[in-house]
Parts: sequence; structure tokens; C-alpha cells
Amino acid sequence: MRIKIEQKILAKNEDFASANRKYFKRNNILCINMISSPGSGKTTILEQTAKALKNKLNIAVIEGDLYTEYDADRIRKTGLQAVQIETKGACHLSAEQITKAFHKLDAEKLDVLVIENVGNLVCPSDFDLGELRRVVVLSTAEGDDKCAKYPGSFAQADVLLINKMDIAKHVDFKISKAKRDARKLNKQLKIFEISAKTTAGMDKWFNWLLKSCKELRK
Ligand code: MG
Ligand code: ZN
Repeated sequence: MRIKIEQKILAKNEDFASANRKYFKRNNILCINMISSPGSGKTTILEQTAKALKNKLNIAVIEGDLYTEYDADRIRKTGLQAVQIETKGACHLSAEQITKAFHKLDAEKLDVLVIENVGNLVCPSDFDLGELRRVVVLSTAEGDDKCAKYPGSFAQADVLLINKMDIAKHVDFKISKAKRDARKLNKQLKIFEISAKTTAGMDKWFNWLLKSCKELRK
């Protein structure tokens, strides 16, 4: 019985996801689903991305959290459009929520739409939101064993951002182990080592965004 209900939920999600994807492709909007555990630094990464790229790309953000508008407020302070989804306890976003939130944005001339998913390395990876790219963030303080322990999130990603590299040595994070485990799951994975706090290493991430937008318009 439970399996049947889960299949139904996922099938309904798939309908919304494919409609979203069609829309993003037709309008050349690089939609990114950003997944990580809570506190990995997703919002800080987006604040720095806004600062660096807002004159080059038109970026908007959909924020997913259980409660509060904290993160949407942080994003708006950078000058970007942001819509907050409060899931009121649900541990992932669904494609239908994205469809609804997207309608609240001024989508004209949008180049990039980032969906900051609910902080959780488990089930968000099972819910296709209709994104064109998936980015997973792992911060060094979480430990270098998380790729192997939560394979779903890493196996399906296009990019892995390893954040908080500035404190890696203080938390005994072995970058070679994390990368080895991630690559075992996903040979195509692009890995960027960054510190959103100091902005070290973030150029490569910015360039990837610019390049991906260009490729989409071809
Ligand atoms: Mg956040
Ligand atoms: Zn969930």
C-alpha cells in the first residue's frame, strides 16, 4: 500500500516537473536545483553569486525552508528577486510548488533560476523539480564521508561545490577522500572547492554558470 501511494506522489510530481522543464528550455532559463544538508552555506553561496554576477546575468531564487522568510530576505538584500516557500514541516520541495512559486516572479529576461531546496541530503534527490542542472553542496564541517553515505544526492548532480574550504584543516576534512567517493558515484561530476565566506575558488563556479547559460542559448 505504501509503495503504491509513493508511486502516485512521484508520478504526479513527474507531470509538473516535465512541464517546468519544457518551460525553462523554451525560455532559455538555466534552472538549478541546489541540494545540501542544512548549514552547508547555500544561501551564502547565492549571496556571493549575486554580488559577482548580477550585472551579467538576470538571476532569481526560489527559497525552500520549513519555516521563516529569512533566506528570501537575505537574497532580496543583494538586489535579486526571491520567493520563499515555507513547507511547514515537509522535508523537500515538489515540482508543483516550483510551478506556483515561479508565477510570483517576473520571469521576463530571466537567465538563471536557482531553487535552494530544503536542507536535507536524503529525499530532495528523489523529487525532480524540472531543473536543467543539479548542484549539490557539501561543507567541510559535515565530514568527508558524506558522499558515500548519501549517494543519491551526489550521483545525480552535475556540480559538487565543496564549501568552507577555509576551515577544512581545522575539521580534519580530507578533500581527496571526499572527491574520490564522489567520483566513484558520478564520473561526470564537476567539483569546485570554494569558500563562500572568503570567495576563494568561486571564480570557477561563476564561470561554469556563465558558460552553462551560453550553451543553453545555442
Ligand atoms: Mg539557506
Ligand atoms: Zn522529503
